[in-house]
Amino acid sequence: MVETPPSLTAVIVAAGRGTRAGGDVPKQWRVIAGRSVVEWSVSRFAAHPAGIDVVLVIHPDDAERAEAASLPSTVRIVHGGADRAASVKAGLAACADGIVLIHDVARPCVTLEVISAVIAGVRAQGAAAPALAVTDALWRGADTVQGTQERDGLWRAQTPQGFEKAAIVAAHAAFEGMPADDVEVARAAGLDVAIVPGDEANLKITGPDDFARAEALLKGGQMDIRVGNGFDVHRFGPGDQVWLCGISVPHGRGLQGHSDADVGLHTVTDAIYGALAEGDIGTHFPPSDPRWKGAESHIFLTHAVELAAARGFEIANADLTLMCERPKIGPVAGAMRARLAELLRIEVGRVSVKATTTERLGFTGREEGIAAMATVTLVAR
Ligand code: MG
Repeated sequence: MVETPPSLTAVIVAAGRGTRAGGDVPKQWRVIAGRSVVEWSVSRFAAHPAGIDVVLVIHPDDAERAEAASLPSTVRIVHGGADRAASVKAGLAACADGIVLIHDVARPCVTLEVISAVIAGVRAQGAAAPALAVTDALWRGADTVQGTQERDGLWRAQTPQGFEKAAIVAAHAAFEGMPADDVEVARAAGLDVAIVPGDEANLKITGPDDFARAEALLKGGQMDIRVGNGFDVHRFGPGDQVWLCGISVPHGRGLQGHSDADVGLHTVTDAIYGALAEGDIGTHFPPSDPRWKGAESHIFLTHAVELAAARGFEIANADLTLMCERPKIGPVAGAMRARLAELLRIEVGRVSVKATTTERLGFTGREEGIAAMATVTLVAR
């Protein structure tokens, strides 16, 4: 007769009302990388090859949210109690005998490897939990450092924490007070809990910054990269200077246009709009609108930069080529790069300003105007 392995059940504790992370819904119901934190956490266990049943412990007020969530049909939903320990007990009551893995829903990036290590640890030693050794120096203090704390033997505890169901149920029944976690409950009952390897990716969402870190991890390196190009031409006319990349360059003529005719800034601005698929300068600043007559073109570029940020993108780099016989760009290229970097809000090493003549060919060769082309890369944050 083949012995069936003991059943595996994950109790995912999602009954908290945590609002420290900001937002108007409880943090476990906020959506990151396309799914709620609850859905991500459940999916980690449901996808494990060992075959893990999932008991999801929710707050009664979240019943409709749980109903609407995309959860495997096998997930059992139970209502939690007044505090975390009461919610764990409610979840344990719904578990079959065997191994139980108690997991905080706020760790949606838990890896299959960590879950496997905990299961193996419980099978070997009866109870196991993942943790990471503390490697940073530890200080005591408030505004100033008052002392250092020995870090040898200190661990950063994670979940899931795994136990035999009967043992952890008995331990919870006997425990009085507010435990930090289920390992504390188990140890109070005399259980030895093995430490198995945790993972930096298994972070706990506590504050607003953690959502961004978790989202980046859950997207799994699927970087959203956008490339945009820009092209613009302005004609020479009367004048004694040209504006190029926000720099005034003395010249025997000026550039004509509705605004200050800064062909360099216009081109980079259009490249950003292009990467965002949000039209071009004319879309956002119609030449028919007298407000933009003689406008300084940094206004346009700043709008594009802020639009990119609002769409969730960072500018990775910009590469601009100016095409003209004169004025000579070389002597002012450094100042142009510095001003562009300032306007793009990136370091100057990510900004290139190049120039070329067109071998006296065409309108630029005849010095009738200046042409410019640019490429800009945006990366989703
Ligand atoms: Mg233009």
